[in-house]
Amino acid sequence: MAEIARYAVFDPATGEEVSRAPLMDAAALDRAVDAAGPAGEAWSKTDPEGDRAPLLRRAATAFRTEADDLARTLTFEQGKPLSEARTEVGRLAATFDYYAGLAHLLEDEAREIAGNRRALVLKRPVGVTAAIVPWNFPLTLSAIKVAPALLAGNAVLVKPAPTAPLSVIRMVELLVAAGAPAGLVQAVTSEDPAFGALVASHPGIARLALTGSTPTGRAVMRAAADDLKLLSLELGGSDAMIVAGDADVAAAARAAAIGRFYNAGQACLATKRLFVDRGIVSELVDAIVERAERLPIGHGLTEGVRIGPLHLPAVRDHVEELVADAVDRGAKVATGTDRPEVSGCGGAFLRPGILVDVPAEARIMQEECFGPVLPVTVVDSIHEAIERANDSPFGLGSTVWSSDLALAESAARALDTGYTWINETPFGFDELPFGGVKQSGFGREHGPEGLLSFTVTKSVTLPR
Ligand code: NAD
Repeated sequence: MAEIARYAVFDPATGEEVSRAPLMDAAALDRAVDAAGPAGEAWSKTDPEGDRAPLLRRAATAFRTEADDLARTLTFEQGKPLSEARTEVGRLAATFDYYAGLAHLLEDEAREIAGNRRALVLKRPVGVTAAIVPWNFPLTLSAIKVAPALLAGNAVLVKPAPTAPLSVIRMVELLVAAGAPAGLVQAVTSEDPAFGALVASHPGIARLALTGSTPTGRAVMRAAADDLKLLSLELGGSDAMIVAGDADVAAAARAAAIGRFYNAGQACLATKRLFVDRGIVSELVDAIVERAERLPIGHGLTEGVRIGPLHLPAVRDHVEELVADAVDRGAKVATGTDRPEVSGCGGAFLRPGILVDVPAEARIMQEECFGPVLPVTVVDSIHEAIERANDSPFGLGSTVWSSDLALAESAARALDTGYTWINETPFGFDELPFGGVKQSGFGREHGPEGLLSFTVTKSVTLPR
């Protein structure tokens, strides 16, 4: 076996080296795919209930046992507060347990058809799968691909972002220690930005599950075309939160602060645009400002910190560009958006910010803002809010706040997004299909839909 070089992974808060990860090249990727093929072949013949679900459950137990270590690794490489990293590890384990409980959905289905015959619909594995994940939630975004893909009988290669590979590598080690056969699940890592394209175009891979930005989604879709690989694309978002005049303002303020500032705003389903009824806008903005100003900023490992650094300086640069553009067009800064001093940490920190009087043509209303800045727009009716919320190239999620549930439900039906939460903070429930419309991509993860997306059906007819 050839010796694989390693590359350095850095702590985004301090810029110090955390550890090293394998620097794989095209030949190393070929070897990984060559090992995955036969491992997947053998795994596809195992029993979902008797063999695969127990592996998922053992892995979930291992993730819980190793939770502290996994969470610290995640904070070190990603930057998020340790409390959020612990939550992410908990979600990783929960997703593996959840999918273990869905093995029965892979049973053959008998169907009635005309004539003197019987029919069966089989659900077969799709083949070697690549899970390509970003740096913002490396573990949960791997979990919702790896767990269903394994349960469905596939081998999986997980490709983390170059800057956040360590927790994914550890997750894979724990899966192997829990009994995953050699080659069945592997992390494929490199610091080379072109490595993802090698994975996406590898002829030995049959299914690509990407979570990433919309431009990456387009590139992956092109790469998939030659071999007609199956695809799911979970891409960028610019989720709107709509707050009607009769909403519970305190609860909405709390949800807006969590929705926008969790993981320093680096979440696909973060609240990225706020549309508020004129009658309550001052009260709501004051309440969110108060919450934003109370969030302790610092190294994610420091007790009590709620806002870590942005993962990369380029992410902060983009957020600052969007803020400057909005201010140039007349928006006002209600709080934050500047760079705080964080003792001992030279990372790309940004103070949680709120912009008011933001015009519709500002870039922050059209582009994805992947950082802790919330633009607020005043509206005079929920209908106006829906129209403005739908005026976006993205369509991932949305939230509606109103004490009139019938009105909120009708708004949910009118919002052009893959998910709408009413009177609650956005959260990806394991049981419910998650995914976007428009430039937010296609395909669904979570729920039975997520599992079945890693299968292909085959119909069989038999004489009676
Ligand atoms: P990114 O698109 O730069 O990278 C995502 C992954 O794709 C990484 O592993 C990267 O190395 C890989 N990649 C990059 N170019 C590739 C190519 N040409 N072919 C194959 N793989 C390639 O995204 P990021 O900056 O790491 O993450 C932030 C983005 O992810 C945001 O746009 C965010 O909204 C999105 N995201 C979406 C969801 C969702 O569920 N819809 C969830 C989280 C994040």
